[in-house]
Formats: sequence, structure tokens, C-alpha cells
Amino acid sequence: MKQLHELAEDLYRCIRCGSCTAVCPVYSEVKREMGVARGRIRLVREHLDGNLDLSATMRNYLDLCLGCRACVVSCPPQVPTDRIVRAARAEYAVRQGQPLVRHLLLHNVLNKPERFSLALDSVKLVRSAGLNRLFPKMLEAKEDLLPELPEQTFREMLKGLKLKKGAEKVGFFLSCMDDNVFPQVIIKAINILEELGYEVVIPTDVVCCGAAHHNYGDLGNARQLARRNIRAFAGAGVEVILTDCASCGSTMQSYGELFVGEKEEGEAQDFSRGVMDLNVFLQDKLVAGSQPLGVTVTYHDPCHAVRYQNIKEEPRKVLAAVGVKLEEMAEADRCCGGGGTFNIFHYQLSMKILNRKIENVRKTGASILATSCPACRIQLAHGLKRHGQTLKVVHPVELLAEFYGKGE
Ligand code: SF4
Ligand code: SF4
Repeated sequence: MKQLHELAEDLYRCIRCGSCTAVCPVYSEVKREMGVARGRIRLVREHLDGNLDLSATMRNYLDLCLGCRACVVSCPPQVPTDRIVRAARAEYAVRQGQPLVRHLLLHNVLNKPERFSLALDSVKLVRSAGLNRLFPKMLEAKEDLLPELPEQTFREMLKGLKLKKGAEKVGFFLSCMDDNVFPQVIIKAINILEELGYEVVIPTDVVCCGAAHHNYGDLGNARQLARRNIRAFAGAGVEVILTDCASCGSTMQSYGELFVGEKEEGEAQDFSRGVMDLNVFLQDKLVAGSQPLGVTVTYHDPCHAVRYQNIKEEPRKVLAAVGVKLEEMAEADRCCGGGGTFNIFHYQLSMKILNRKIENVRKTGASILATSCPACRIQLAHGLKRHGQTLKVVHPVELLAEFYGKGE
């Protein structure tokens, strides 16, 4: 991954045209120059020119970036603002470390799957005792981001599952969120893949993909996690590693970049090349049935699918095979404001960005909202609840499973 000084040429390509101001979800709410690509680039440029320290104040401005890449695709000279922001955060993290709460999250919770599960078990306990109702308002709102949690994680369910043998093996990556929050999505994905004749290989010694570590510049831990995931699949005998999480997919596809110039570079690149979004894998393997599901669905494009992996038509093809009526929302590919953990650290701003998304969803009249990233799913479900909307939020594979009668 390039360091900040290596991106200097990119920074100087900004022509200050302001195209980014029209598309940045953060700028549309904060209306301040430091809240858009042009302003962030100016800040970092002043730092590289020796006029500004990379201070906590500057880091706070840089933290107000969702990494959604809307600015990058609309920028005439294609300035990679998301990379510049991540590189600046990484430089700051090396010099000053992370703020305490973020440090705890990155080092003590996300680094170890058992700690992540334990943290969610604590949430279940707090909820069952009704203690969450005693939280201060803001904390209560953030806690409410998490939907109702399942009794068992996927890892726990897996002990009682008998995975089928098949002619061809495919790997499946266990995302932290789906493992702990939406295990039914993984079960349904397995059912569909097995129905199509595949043997699904699911290594349980995988860890977090490292998306948050990568995003906040904790590159040491991001590499450690990447090494463990590469090792977990090393003896699995699979060429393709499927994921139902757009953020995990795009993060693992960048492992090659994470190890540039290091001895693991080749192996990491091979791994990244094998990572594939579940929708991409399924899109050309489905036969449209004669009994359409007969529901109206609208689809939200996760930033990490549409602008990081160029995935746009594939989930729609999966939905078409199921025979749903797809009602496109306005700005389907505009960021929902979730931004991984952006909604935790910048809750109020995140909700303002989400309001526009929910209004676009509402106008479609759909009864189901589909998306392919568990982080977006959490954010969207929270927004729907806040606005009293009753739409169900699902991954396309859940509709597929329903269609094929493979729901359980
Ligand atoms: S769109 Fe690109 S070139 Fe134009 S101001 Fe924004 S970052 Fe600079
Ligand atoms: S990546 Fe998204 S949030 Fe960040 S500056 Fe660009 S448009 Fe704004």
C-alpha cells in the first residue's frame, strides 16, 4: 500500500473544480470545505508542503470521510481521495497511535473472533436484563444499531451441520458480521451452492478481513489478519473464495496491495485474485423459474461492491432469476452513511446521510430492500426502524433460497 508521500503526485492533480462537492454524502450535510475531497486534499497537501502538522484536528477532518469513492469516480483527473485519506490516517497512526475507543475496537475486539462474539454476547445479556433502556440517549441510539442477535453464531451452528460433497469445491469466507449477526445468510448461501452441485469449504480459523484496520491506518494489524486468512485457505484446495459481504470482498481483494514489496506479495496477490462476491459467482448459474416470488424489491448498492469491485448488474441478475419486481430507487449507489464504523463514531452525521437513503427507499413502494453487505444492512434496517418503515432487509441469496425452497 502506498505511503502518503508516494501519493504526492496524485494530490497535485486536483484542479479544484468542485465536482466532488456535488456527490459527496458528507459534504451535502456538513457544507464545509474540510468535509469534501477538495478540502481534504488541500489539508494533506499543506502537510506534505511542510506548512501544517498532521495534527489530531486534521485527523478528525480526515475521519469525516466515508471512503465511499463517490468523489473518485466523478473527479475529472481521478484523484484517489479514499487512498489519500487512508494513507494520511496511517501516517498519523504510526506517529500518534489511535484514539482510545478505536484502539480498543481494533486491537481488543475485531482482532479475535472469540472476543467479537463475546462482545455481542454481552450486548445480548444487557438487552435481556433491560439495562440498555438505562443508557444515555446517544448510547442507546448507537446500541440500537445492532439488530436482534441470533441465539447461535454460524460457527456454533456449523458443529451440527453436515456439509455435502460435490464435484467442485468452492471456499467460503466467514465474515464477522454474518457469522455473529446474520448466520442465516451463510446457511442459505451454502444451501444454494450445494443445490448447484458445489462442495462448500468453510475454514473456521479465519479472522476479521481487516477492513476497519485498513480503513483507519492500522496496517500492522491489517497485515497480521490478512496473513491468517491467507493461511486459513492455503490447504483448502479451492480456487475461488466466495463472500457474501461486499466490504470483506473488497478488503481481501486488496491483500496483494497490502504486501507490495514484501515476501508474501505473490501469495497475497494469488489469494486476492481468488476472492469473489457471491452475486458475481451465482449470476450466470441460475435458471429463472416459472413461479416468480411476486414481491417488489429495491436494491441498495454497497460502496464496496459498486465502486470498489465494479459490481452493479450481478445482484440484479440474481434478483431477476428469482422473478421479483425490481423497483430501482433513486441514487441506489449513494452511500447509506454506514461506512463500516462511521455510524458508531459519527452517529448523528451518519443518520443525516441515511435519511436521504431511506426516503429514496420509501418512494419505491417496495416491501423488501436487498443489499449485499451486512454493514449496510445494519445501517439500512436501523434507518427504516427510525422512520417507521416495515420493509424487510435481506441479502439477495435469501430470496434465492426462498425461491428454490431452500430456506432452512
Ligand atoms: S473533483 Fe477531483 S479535481 Fe475536482 S476538486 Fe474534487 S478532488 Fe479536486
Ligand atoms: S470518499 Fe466519499 S465521503 Fe470521502 S470525500 Fe469522497 S465522496 Fe466524500
